[in-house]
Amino acid sequence: MSQTRSHSFSFEFFPTKTDAGHEKLLATARRLAEYKPDFFSCTYGAGGSTRDRTLNTVLQLDGEVKVSTAPHLSCVGDTKAELRELLNIYKDAGIQRIVALRGDLPSGMGMASGELRYANELVEFIRAETGDHFHIEIAAYPEMHPQARHFEDDLANFVRKAKAGADSAITQYFFNADCYFYFVERVRKLGVDMPIVPGIMPITNYSKLARFSDACGAEIPRWVRKQLEAYGDDIESIQAFGTQVITEMCEKLLAGGAPGLHFYTLNQAEPSLAVWENLKLVR
Ligand code: FAD
Repeated sequence: MSQTRSHSFSFEFFPTKTDAGHEKLLATARRLAEYKPDFFSCTYGAGGSTRDRTLNTVLQLDGEVKVSTAPHLSCVGDTKAELRELLNIYKDAGIQRIVALRGDLPSGMGMASGELRYANELVEFIRAETGDHFHIEIAAYPEMHPQARHFEDDLANFVRKAKAGADSAITQYFFNADCYFYFVERVRKLGVDMPIVPGIMPITNYSKLARFSDACGAEIPRWVRKQLEAYGDDIESIQAFGTQVITEMCEKLLAGGAPGLHFYTLNQAEPSLAVWENLKLVR
């Protein structure tokens, strides 16, 4: 597999609610750190529900596990003052990368009460508050954001967000390399030349994956879905088949010019590493 130091490889975590979960996250992060990723990232519960847990996890991964770590920050449900405070804490702690999102308020939290409505406004806010300090990542949706009415509108919204001052993008996960290549080709024609790194979701559990994918608008191709369904509770076969499917897709992505891979680890090391080892990624 051809890959160079200019490729970006990264791993994403979510902050946990329990001490035991946090210890497991740290163990996973230490194991993944051995592979010398370019960065880790840690999600943020829209509306500030994981504010302290995200902050503490980011500072610990960055400071103790010693992998540069990017906090996710979403604007729905947070005030400008709350966002400003977090940005300043991260800046003072030497954090240099941030993933800027609109976010989705968890059901039951009511309507968005934040002052910024869309991620392009958050990107502008971060630039206005902190200048060029942060490398700003934004989200991209090769299969279209689930709330968008039209692919072309979504594309235009992505381009506006990119031009608001973002440096690179990470995609929602998908299982079809063609949608990624089509999306990149379209945004290039609209004048966006930033790296767009595919987000990779290893396949480990069919029912969870089907639920997640429905919610975020990622299509599981019929041939993959039917095969996963047929394995039933046979987790070993699901994982073996899933690893093969994802490895082959990543091979296509890298061979076709993808600038790296961002793994949604769900706080587990092995599923991402199985793909990493198959791809023979060496850092
Ligand atoms: P936006 O870019 O604001 O887009 C949201 C929708 O609004 C789209 O349909 C878009 O077409 C439309 N739109 C955008 N701008 C405008 C505008 N100016 N006017 C009108 N319409 C507009 N969620 C979390 O809560 N926490 C996380 O940590 C998190 N991490 C993520 C990481 C990645 C890599 C990805 C891909 C997603 C992540 N999400 C996270 C999910 C994300 O918050 C949701 O998908 C959310 O619904 C959209 O966020 P966004 O930043 O893409 O929004």
